[in-house]
Amino acid sequence: MLNSGSFPLSWKDSLVFLIPKNTPGKFRPISLTSCFQKIQEKLVLLRLNWWIESSSIIPAYQFKFRKRKSCLDNLGILATEAFNGFASQQAFSIQLNGTSVLSNRTAKFLGIVLDFNLCGHSHASYLVAKCGKLTNVIKSLRGTWWGADPKTLLYSRSVINIISSCTIDRDYNYLVLVLKNKLRSAYIQNIDITLVWIPAHVGILGNETADHLAKEAINKGGPVDYMIPHTDFYESVRETLNKRTKDTLLSLAEHVGSSYFNNFPITPHAWFSKLKLNRLKIVTTCRIRSNHYNLNYSLYRCNIVDSPSCRCGAPQQDINHVLWNCPLLTLYRSSLLESIESLLEKPPPYDVFDLLKKPSTHLITYIISYLRKHNIDV
Ligand SMILES: [Zn+2]
Repeated sequence: MLNSGSFPLSWKDSLVFLIPKNTPGKFRPISLTSCFQKIQEKLVLLRLNWWIESSSIIPAYQFKFRKRKSCLDNLGILATEAFNGFASQQAFSIQLNGTSVLSNRTAKFLGIVLDFNLCGHSHASYLVAKCGKLTNVIKSLRGTWWGADPKTLLYSRSVINIISSCTIDRDYNYLVLVLKNKLRSAYIQNIDITLVWIPAHVGILGNETADHLAKEAINKGGPVDYMIPHTDFYESVRETLNKRTKDTLLSLAEHVGSSYFNNFPITPHAWFSKLKLNRLKIVTTCRIRSNHYNLNYSLYRCNIVDSPSCRCGAPQQDINHVLWNCPLLTLYRSSLLESIESLLEKPPPYDVFDLLKKPSTHLITYIISYLRKHNIDV
């Protein structure tokens, strides 16, 4: 489909449902589109992301919407720049449309108060003021009600974030909605409830009792009177599907590709997932691994050429012959063997299928560049 550039018209259709908003007469439309189209979109997205990242198209200092980057990187860069600026004692001024921007003794950036000397005093004062509020909360926890004030509920931070958030994610545990509803009805009845997260809340009796009961429930189990949230099933579905796929592949391997499966057992992730390889190297290595490539030994099995033999007279022109033995391709062989020997700390002879059981980026690069130097496109 990608090659032909075609796009099924039916994939452009979507089922639109109107969900009423709180305001009467107002609706929020949601549209359901084709699952195949979504999969294709995801494939294109993954490929585009990979291409954008590997070709360094996005500026090095953009951290939003990128994997493994966060605002902490910005903070680190800014703090270093500021520190270097102060260290070099250079006077600087910033102009915006011709107007000077006045400097300030302190600035708050990503939750940190940076002061002119970067000694941290301003941030410390800010923290003291902020912690004052928390200390008040802790004071209220020293009540007589099993150690905690009845108006105050303790939760883990992630639960508090979810419960206090205004949005509703369809992947939420439904118990979150139950809790939200309970809090709402308490609010309607003028019952004042404060949600508090206290870091490292060890030592608060009520909280420790709750922790203890939760752990006991996990270990001993027992019937519960609420439904199990659908998100709890994700892992089991994933496991079942992985197992089913593996079983199917293994049962097929009895008839087709048995040597492949012997050499390369099925793993949860693709063999190249942790290697830094471009598409060409991945595709070429896949061909070698599968023993289906553009050499006479493989072409003969598909009735494309008349003989599996090599031009040098060897009976089989296969990948091992080309890499290690063919007398017509000796030009770059010694450097290939030396590179592999120093990489693996193991002398020849080699078998390419053995080598590719635990491939590294360097190993694949050596093999493919040898083939390329000899103009062999497997
Ligand atoms: Zn040969």
